[in-house]
Amino acid sequence: MNRLAVIGQPISHSLSPAMHTAALRALGLEREWSYVAIELSPERFSSGVGELRERGYVGANVTVPHKLAALALADDASASARAIGASNTLTFSPAGVRADNTDAPGLIAALPHDPSGRRALVLGAGGAARASAWALAGAGAEVVVHNRTRRRAAELAAELEVRVLDPPEAGAPLAIADFDLLVNATSVGLAIGNSARGRAGLDLKDLGLAADGFSDRMVVVDLVYGAAPTELTAAASAAGATVVDGLEVLVRQGAESFRIWTGSEPPLEAMRAAIRSE
Ligand code: NAP
Repeated sequence: MNRLAVIGQPISHSLSPAMHTAALRALGLEREWSYVAIELSPERFSSGVGELRERGYVGANVTVPHKLAALALADDASASARAIGASNTLTFSPAGVRADNTDAPGLIAALPHDPSGRRALVLGAGGAARASAWALAGAGAEVVVHNRTRRRAAELAAELEVRVLDPPEAGAPLAIADFDLLVNATSVGLAIGNSARGRAGLDLKDLGLAADGFSDRMVVVDLVYGAAPTELTAAASAAGATVVDGLEVLVRQGAESFRIWTGSEPPLEAMRAAIRSE
């Protein structure tokens, strides 16, 4: 049996086991491959990965809070994992641990068109923003970043050789009209998207955006995902923008990991159906 896992803390909410199990089933691989969720604390991450290898695991997705530690423990890493400084995909072999980052190609694969030559605004300066800015710049987009804590945006921009958005006038929303693509890579909206109550408007304001700032020529990607549309995707859709939600990006990063481990073409529709029905 080729064993796979997703490692995180907390991990019980993860959609990855359902998504990968559906993919394995769709390809008739469920007798040879398995995929489970494993919770490890930061203190136990490194030794836990060692134990998984001893038990015959061949790979793992890695999520919050272990993406930096995953890269640190690897013997070998892809160019994207090294440039982003984080890994979400580990592959185990007798030769050692290989680290990849599929968040970056996953974002590009989720876009409706090639971002080359387009203007992209990335909101956030954490791990997801870093992967997004690196991916988009590498794909030829003109990338600008904005973050609540401006210093962190400036650090990210300097390292990845992208620009920081000029601050808006006091109290004014961000000037987004000139962008072809907007990526929300902050954690704002997470509670709202997952909340049965909903708290209309809160995340848009927190992001510095106004509902009337979107247009039908924009592509808006919200990495935050939940059961309901986020305030961001709802406002963008209402303005006629093309919306890519966090579930589609999740599917695409999972698909890239699946391809690395199994060498098989990932069955995207089965993966989408599995997570949207969870
Ligand atoms: P992170 O490293 O913790 O970064 C969080 C970012 O959000 C920071 O830039 C932070 O700004 C900003 N932020 C938090 N609260 C804010 C607020 N109230 N107002 C304005 N900005 C705020 O998180 P991450 O790992 O990058 O993940 C970010 C999001 O992407 C999460 O929701 C995660 O689930 C999602 N994600 C989705 C996928 C996918 O496949 N769909 C993949 C990766 C990540 P400061 O610097 O000012 O604190």
